[in-house]
Amino acid sequence: MSRPLRHGELVILVDSKGRQYLVTLDEDAQFHSHTGYFDHAELIGQEEGATVRSSTGARYTVMRPTLADFVLRMPRGAQVIYPKDLGAILVLADIFPGARVLEAGVGSGACSLALVRAGAEVVGYEIRPEFAQRARANVATYLGEAASARFRVHERDIYAGIDERGLDRLVLDLPEPWLVVKHAEVALRPGGIFVAYTPSITQVAQLRESLAESCFELAETVEVLARTWHVEGQAVRPDHRMVAHTGFLTSARLLGPVPGGLKAARVPR
Ligand code: SAH
Repeated sequence: MSRPLRHGELVILVDSKGRQYLVTLDEDAQFHSHTGYFDHAELIGQEEGATVRSSTGARYTVMRPTLADFVLRMPRGAQVIYPKDLGAILVLADIFPGARVLEAGVGSGACSLALVRAGAEVVGYEIRPEFAQRARANVATYLGEAASARFRVHERDIYAGIDERGLDRLVLDLPEPWLVVKHAEVALRPGGIFVAYTPSITQVAQLRESLAESCFELAETVEVLARTWHVEGQAVRPDHRMVAHTGFLTSARLLGPVPGGLKAARVPR
């Protein structure tokens, strides 16, 4: 289906060396780089994959950014969750269209983008107003106003409690997720899923202890290692460098209350 590029759209420009630039098309603007310039107007009305030449003859190819392209280049306040972990979060938390998800903290909105894009109805708790604002702006920029209606951010501290009830999923990226376990027990519906991203293994240990003493069951912790490969003729091997660590993902399912849950069956009273 033909979908020509329009004024106001976000695009990625790729140069002959594979360098990528995130640009908002503006019919009155020019793109400038060390290789000269060209008018955005040359791209408006074209399809993805079109190429333009700059004033010095350098070639640029245009395409719409993927969610991963945008997350890695969007304006950030807080550190973002990387695409490799975003993919895993969507599956671990079993995000589905219409799922009622509570997310905290919201930070720059990378995880929010993935959740809203997957069709969830997201309520975010974020203590820092400037981050809440940044996340709203990033979600609106990439997903547009219609999808942003499924993303509401409250400037508040999740450690103090959760007002929502009957939530399907809870997705956390904050320093002390174990302080949320008690609130999650009443805010999630039975069968609801809890997922927390934590950079440090000591955070995992403390969280797992809290989960073990709660109505949550089936707790698991995983880390996602993504190793890219260099593929060139007969030289086919892993790249020398990789992002070796981002964070651990801990998930659990609300299957209480005891008695009747798996824990009750294992530990007779
Ligand atoms: N997942 C986000 C990044 C979150 S960074 C992304 O992918 O873009 C962690 C965020 O948690 C910070 O913005 C911080 O302000 C927020 N935060 C820390 N403690 C909090 C609390 N108790 N309640 C709500 N937000 C909190």
